[in-house]
Amino acid sequence: MTYSLVIPLKNEAESLLPLYKELKNAISSLKKEYEIIFVDDGSTDNSYEVLKSLENKDGNIKVIKLRANFGKSYALDKGLEASTGEIIITLDADLQDDPAEIPKLISKLNEGFDFVNGWRKKRQDNITKKISSNLFNLGTSFIAGIRLHDFNCGLKAFTKEVAKELHLRGELHRFIPVLAAKNKFRVTEVAVNHRPRKYGESKFGKFGLGRSWKGILDLITTVFISDFSAKPAHFFGSIGLIFFTIGFLMDAYVTYLKITTGTTQDRIPLLIAGVLFILLGVQLISTGLIAEMVASYYHRTKS
Ligand code: UDP
Ligand code: MG
Repeated sequence: MTYSLVIPLKNEAESLLPLYKELKNAISSLKKEYEIIFVDDGSTDNSYEVLKSLENKDGNIKVIKLRANFGKSYALDKGLEASTGEIIITLDADLQDDPAEIPKLISKLNEGFDFVNGWRKKRQDNITKKISSNLFNLGTSFIAGIRLHDFNCGLKAFTKEVAKELHLRGELHRFIPVLAAKNKFRVTEVAVNHRPRKYGESKFGKFGLGRSWKGILDLITTVFISDFSAKPAHFFGSIGLIFFTIGFLMDAYVTYLKITTGTTQDRIPLLIAGVLFILLGVQLISTGLIAEMVASYYHRTKS
């Protein structure tokens, strides 16, 4: 069994040396082969120099430097791509995630799970961030139908099979457990220690609220892609059929009035509404068919 630790970072120079020491302590107790992959996501401080000097000293370290700041999801994706271990562990570089918890995650994984998510039970962030994060977690649990307390915890452990299915981009790192669960991997969580940020500032703002509306769209995309990507016509088509049927009934009623009474009895607005519903229905059904073509093309080229 070999381990790959994947750590995305942007401007965390002061944290890197203490983090490295803590990681070594935690991982050497496991007595297994490992690699530590640092992904420098466009740092403008001397993070990269610090990492390079570590890489020169320690053969277990790999450093990936991105051309610019592409965001945490992309950085994680590049790190996962470069990883060779059978078990992947991700964590943040700012010392908030405690490396001493890694063995706990791994032993949970060995109980027969594919994915173990950290849960920062006593979260060491400010109150606004805690509240917005609670709302995010409740909303995500509800919409995705997966009961977890802390989707966006940086500390996670999973198998390389899970890593292959993630394809992270945009802000998808917040939904990694959702992606894993939707791919039918066995997902669970363990409570982990969390610490206040010692150096530098949060890269996602003090409040964590700024991008919440984009988060909602990301969640909808995630659930949609995972639940309906193989059968998009079912999703668009069923809504389309409902609209079409409502419109058809409205217009059939107006036609019936015209035939039986000779006039539409001032039901012209109903007639127009009916036409709108029918058009909308047809539009949605055809969108479903186009999506179906895209999906079938995708599945043909994938294998
Ligand atoms: N990070 C990154 N790219 C970014 C923003 C953040 O690689 O564009 C890293 C950051 O250096 C840290 C982790 O992602 O290792 C989590 O970020 P941060 O601690 O700022 O988030 P918070 O804990 O405040 O949610
Ligand atoms: Mg942090």
